[in-house]
Amino acid sequence: MWPWGLIAFRRVGHRLLAAKKDVDARDGRAPDVERPARCRYSKSMSPKSALKAKSEPGQSETVSRPIALLAWYDRHRRRLPWRAAPGETSDPYRVWLSEIMLQQTTVKAVGPYFEKFVARWPEVTALGNASQDDVLRMWAGLGYYSRARNLHACAVAVTRQHGGVFPDTEEGLRALPGIGPYTAAAIAAIAFDRHTMPVDGNIERVVSRLFAVEEELPQAKPLIQQLAATLLANSRAGDSAQALMDLGASICTPKKPACSLCPLNEDCKARTLGTQETFPRKAPKKGGALRRGAAFVVTRGDELLVRSRPEKGLLGGMTEVPGSNWLAGQEDATARQQAPDLKGLSRWQRKVGVVNHVFTHFPLELVVYTAKAQPRTRAPAGMRWVPIATLADEALPNVMRKVIAHALNLPSGPSS
Ligand code: SF4
Repeated sequence: MWPWGLIAFRRVGHRLLAAKKDVDARDGRAPDVERPARCRYSKSMSPKSALKAKSEPGQSETVSRPIALLAWYDRHRRRLPWRAAPGETSDPYRVWLSEIMLQQTTVKAVGPYFEKFVARWPEVTALGNASQDDVLRMWAGLGYYSRARNLHACAVAVTRQHGGVFPDTEEGLRALPGIGPYTAAAIAAIAFDRHTMPVDGNIERVVSRLFAVEEELPQAKPLIQQLAATLLANSRAGDSAQALMDLGASICTPKKPACSLCPLNEDCKARTLGTQETFPRKAPKKGGALRRGAAFVVTRGDELLVRSRPEKGLLGGMTEVPGSNWLAGQEDATARQQAPDLKGLSRWQRKVGVVNHVFTHFPLELVVYTAKAQPRTRAPAGMRWVPIATLADEALPNVMRKVIAHALNLPSGPSS
C-alpha cells in the first residue's frame, strides 16, 4: 500500500489537489486552506525564523503542510480500538481512557487493556461507580499505578460533578484528576475538535526533524510546541494531531525513518541535511543509582503472605510480598534483617540469583528469600494470606510478579 501512497505524493501539485479533494469530501466543509500556495518557508530558515515568518500577517509559509498531512492521514491512518472511524464522532470516554493508558505505554500493550476496560465499564459513569480495587486489579500489569488511581478518581469526578459528561475545553479537562496539559490538549483536539496541538513523543520527533530544532529537550519543548501548532489545519484539529502521531509512529520512526514515504519530505530540514536520526536533540540522561533490597516469600500450604503498599508513593496501593526498603548500596545482611516475624516459621532459604527490575528513575535488584509457615499461622499486622490460585486477581505490579515467579519456580521468572 505504501508505494501507491508514495506515487500519489510525488508531485506537490498532485498532492495538494488530492488533499483538497479529500478534505472537501471527508467532512463536507470548506478546505482548511483557501489557496494551497507554495511555501515561502525556506529550508535554510532557523526554527525561530520560521515561526516568526508564520506569525507575520499575510505570510502563509506552512499552509501546504496541514493539508498534505490530512491527505496522508485520510489514506494511511491507523485503525485503533479507541479511534472513531471516518465520519463517526469521537467518544470522549474512549479518547480519555486511551490517552491515560498510553502514557508511557505502547499502543500494542494498551490494546487488550483498553478492550477489557470498555467491555466491563462501557461508559465513564460505570467506571466512576466501580471500586478502586477493581480498577487497580484490571490495570495490573500496565505499570505506573498512580495513573490507575487517577483514572478512577477522574471517572468519579466526571460522574458526580459533571453528570457523566466530560468538559469540552482544555481548562475544564485540566481541572480533573490525572489530566495534565498534554492529555487535556489531546482530548480537547481529538474528542472535541478544539484548535490545539497536543505534543507527544512522536510529534516531538517529527517536528524537531522537520524544523531541525537544535535546542535540546526538555528545554526545546516550548519551541516545539509552537512549531507543532503551525501544522494544525484550520478545521479537523483532532485529525491533524492524530496524523502527526501516526506519522511519527509509522514513518518518522526513531531509527531509519522512511522519508521517501513521508508527505512532508519536501519541506523537511533534517532530511535535507541527512541528519534525521540525530533529532530530537536530548540532554544526556542521569540514570538513577541501583537500589537493592530483599523480598520475603512466605507460603502457608497453598497460600501466600502479602500486604498492600501505602496509598501514596511508588506502586501506591498495589499488592506485594513483605520486603525490605530499597536503598542504593544496601548490604544483603541489612535487607535480610527486615524479614517479617512469624511464629513457627521454617528457616529462610535464599533463592539463587536475583530479580532485576527497572523503574523510571532507578534500577532495582532484589534478593529473594522463601520460608514455610505452619498451618493456621496468623498473618502479622497489616498482612494477609491469599490463595496462590487467586493471585491473578490481586493488583500485583510486574516487579512482584517476577519475585513470586522466581520464588515459586513459576514460568516467566526473573533475570538473574
Ligand atoms: S522527511 Fe523523514 S525526517 Fe522529515 S518528517 Fe518526514 S519522515 Fe521525518
